[in-house]
Amino acid sequence: MKKVLILEDEVNIRSFVVINLRRAGYDAVEAGTGAEALERLKDNPDIGVAILDIMLPDMDGFEVCRNIRATNKQIGIIMLTARTQEMDKVTGLMTGADDYVTKPFSPAELTARIDALYRRIGGDGAGDAELLTQGPFVMNVRNRTLEKNGERIRLTQVEYAILKLFMQNPGRALSREDVLTAVWGRDYDGELKIVDVNIRRLRIKIEDDATSPKFITTVWGFGYKWGA
Ligand code: CA
Repeated sequence: MKKVLILEDEVNIRSFVVINLRRAGYDAVEAGTGAEALERLKDNPDIGVAILDIMLPDMDGFEVCRNIRATNKQIGIIMLTARTQEMDKVTGLMTGADDYVTKPFSPAELTARIDALYRRIGGDGAGDAELLTQGPFVMNVRNRTLEKNGERIRLTQVEYAILKLFMQNPGRALSREDVLTAVWGRDYDGELKIVDVNIRRLRIKIEDDATSPKFITTVWGFGYKWGA
């Protein structure tokens, strides 16, 4: 069964999420503090997606996110943000989250996001060429790894999915909507900003100089183009 961690200190919200996760066919693991969440993750290495609240009694959700990402690039991470925490969305994504859901959210919305993350994690490498080699980059589609000049670059699932899309479409200008649809799915109703935030993060990882990118270039008023 697919296992999901829910970190939320408010018992009512947590129970509500757990009930709906179980109803949607997920195995739910609960945590009420950041420390507890990290403990649960250690005990349950098969957790595929973690849902992290931001306001917690012992540490904030971003810190938990950074902690998880320090050792685990594979897990999908969804942040729970309040409406007033507009900036937190960006901060959360910059600390390694894959997605965010704004409170109050519907159970359907949350499970749709989890399903989408699971689809990306599961990947579907079938039928793809095993290696995509362009310029200094080698992407191994079977292992979902990336090397630049023979050095491994660690990517989150979302960053990997975006880069794979680019490497499969070299020289082609892709709109932000193209990227959003290809990576997050057609039923995703989030904002285009999430694309820009992930591109910013990718540039830091793969460009020689992220302030003057030459691999992922901006196509003003449209989107991005890959060339290596
Ligand atoms: Ca809270």
